Amino acid sequence: MKIVPISVPTPFYVGPVNVYLIAEEPLTLIDTGPKTKEALEALREGLRRERVRPADIRRIVLTHAHEDHCGLAKRLRDEAKDAEVLVHGWETGHRAGRLEYDEHRALLVRAGVPDTEIAAMRRMYEGVRAYADALEDHEHAELSDDDEIKFERGSLRVVHTPGHTPGSCSFLREADRTVIAGDCVLKRITPNPILSPDPVDPSRRFRSLAEYLVSLARLRSLSPTLVHGGHGEPVADYDELFNRYVRAINERQAEVIRLIPKAGATAWDVACELFPGTDDVHRFLATSEAVAHLDLAHSENKLALELSDGREVYLKK
Ligand SMILES: [Zn+2]
Ligand SMILES: [Zn+2]
Repeated sequence: MKIVPISVPTPFYVGPVNVYLIAEEPLTLIDTGPKTKEALEALREGLRRERVRPADIRRIVLTHAHEDHCGLAKRLRDEAKDAEVLVHGWETGHRAGRLEYDEHRALLVRAGVPDTEIAAMRRMYEGVRAYADALEDHEHAELSDDDEIKFERGSLRVVHTPGHTPGSCSFLREADRTVIAGDCVLKRITPNPILSPDPVDPSRRFRSLAEYLVSLARLRSLSPTLVHGGHGEPVADYDELFNRYVRAINERQAEVIRLIPKAGATAWDVACELFPGTDDVHRFLATSEAVAHLDLAHSENKLALELSDGREVYLKK
């Protein structure tokens, strides 16, 4: 069972995304790239090198439903005459008619983000949505943890690795413990846990960083020999990366706690201190990062939390 990486350009800051062709029957793609002409051309070219036509693809498996990964899923599914699309049930980004705006808005208000900023974030978000075609409910099926994705020769085991998003999944080839990990593992950057509603109770916030740390440890327990990430080169020394990530997370947490003044601060206040002068696009990511670290520090009893005017204010203990 051959895993063939195909690098596909994206219009995003992160750079190209890795799509993986599993060159074994039934022919399977892991992720697709964003919905742009350039991405589709690069993907076609990558498939052509393996003598595969898009119409031959039988299955499209998504690591998670961010636009740079899922954008072309609908288009390829249609071109391949109803190829199966599989994605974890906790993902929402690929769905048509999702009702997330209100829930997201509530989370941003609680994080102390001013109304004008929320409006700007929403415009940014709608711009990004243009890079993916939504799938109707009957056009995709659900992946679950520990599912086996079978091929004529070999299989991939689904490992649910929430954190970057609630439904992020990794895929383990048990024969040699190779892992395809999407944005859970990236060689050169520490992935950002994105602010999301909790999939079980959308009025709450998903505990992204705590979940992410568990996912990283779970991957370590698999003793992976090679990890293919969603962007950049594969990781051969997962232990080194794991230690580096944990160190970076601890350092960032200490910094976030340091930034809280005596009178307390909201996640938005902390985001502005952490990343002064960021533009619209990155303010949402900055807020996500601040919330994730404040949540974790609070759950570890390092910070107190008070509600003031519907906003959460973190206080030093
Ligand atoms: Zn992502
Ligand atoms: Zn990505």
